[in-house]
Amino acid sequence: INSKNPIERNRSVIEQSGIKTLLTGFVDDNILKLAAESNCKLIDTSKLIDSEINLSLPNVSDDEIAYILFTSGSTGIPKGVPITRANVDALMDAFYDLGYEIDENDRFMQMFELTFDFSVICYFAPLVKGASIYTVSNEGIKYGNVYTTLEDHEITFACMVPSIITYLKPYFEDINLPKLKYSLFCGEALYDDIAQGWQKCTPNSKIINTYGPTEATVFCTVYNWNPEIKNKTLNGVVCIGKSMKNMMSIVVDEKGVELPSGEKGELALAGKQLTPGYWKNPEKNKEAFFKLNVNGTETETTFYRSGDLALADSDGDLMYLGRKDNQVKIQGFRVELGEIEHHAREFTKVSCVAMAYNNGSGITILHLFLENYLGTTEALQENLKSKVPFYMVPTAYTLLTNFPLNTNGKIDRIELQKLLPKEL
Ligand code: AMP
Repeated sequence: INSKNPIERNRSVIEQSGIKTLLTGFVDDNILKLAAESNCKLIDTSKLIDSEINLSLPNVSDDEIAYILFTSGSTGIPKGVPITRANVDALMDAFYDLGYEIDENDRFMQMFELTFDFSVICYFAPLVKGASIYTVSNEGIKYGNVYTTLEDHEITFACMVPSIITYLKPYFEDINLPKLKYSLFCGEALYDDIAQGWQKCTPNSKIINTYGPTEATVFCTVYNWNPEIKNKTLNGVVCIGKSMKNMMSIVVDEKGVELPSGEKGELALAGKQLTPGYWKNPEKNKEAFFKLNVNGTETETTFYRSGDLALADSDGDLMYLGRKDNQVKIQGFRVELGEIEHHAREFTKVSCVAMAYNNGSGITILHLFLENYLGTTEALQENLKSKVPFYMVPTAYTLLTNFPLNTNGKIDRIELQKLLPKEL
């Protein structure tokens, strides 16, 4: 649970997952209110008295859930992704199989909220090798803190979302981080020009582009970007490579039939890192998972429809082509535009369309269109702040008397898109 998220959202997560106890390292009014309103016992871990450490391992099944993360849901209700201990184990196994040289002298950076699954690798990967972890302060400007953490602590392994580097782009000329050995990206499209610029700032770092949804435990495909060659890209986006050790990825058509290389389709994922299914959500599970006999085998394999469009090239490397739905990434956070529209509509009672666009310098902006809305956007913005995490609150609004409609009488999103500002 992220205490910075609106209380209503956290209450929904507590209710859905049946949480009865909250553990926290600090207590503030928000947490007290949340515990009281959701009938949870609150334990302040900073007040606990040290006891003897018992290092004997409890007997816990691999199928036991390690954590549940809630991601944006288009219906307005966040959906829970349970990840088992076996899923995390498979990720760690595959990660170390990549052959990166990590030992107890390494220094990892951890810049993510614990409710973002990328944080899982930032803790587990160094801990199992006895390496150090340096967390990034949340006070002040995040990308500035990322830079000072990298420099001050001579970080050797950094996991980052590309957005952070995009924010640092104006300072590339002045950045020099020779101690960084690995820059591992995940969470959103990595653009080749960003990779090139970052390589100049970090002359000794290997740039790695990983891909994966929360449903497949952090990341499950890898591409090693190489400064010596012309890297594989499509529309400027760096290739997402091949599946990691315990995973399988195929490109399928609408019916779930595997497509030959070179053909564009939806990326479907299977293997040991795959969640057993959405938490108490049979409907969503039916939509998102399907079974397939692969390579003429008798046994059926469960695949997850990622919603990502991709194609495999003749080497089997996957090229990322965007989303097939209205899911976008804002500063690396996964956002369903439908969830924003749902909350905006509830408050305004008018038609709303949320859109994300690039402001010209690589930063994604959330824009909300409202039809015939007579209230103020300030009041709407305040209301949204109490419903959704900060990164889901639109920063720009356009009020229209009537939405343009297409020939089917539906809201014409393409026409609306034309009304977006080109550059800030
Ligand atoms: P999350 O569940 O927050 O990790 O978000 C997963 C989604 O992020 C994926 O389904 C993709 O749409 C996007 N994503 C993750 N990694 C990459 C990548 N390397 N390139 C392009 N998109 C990515």
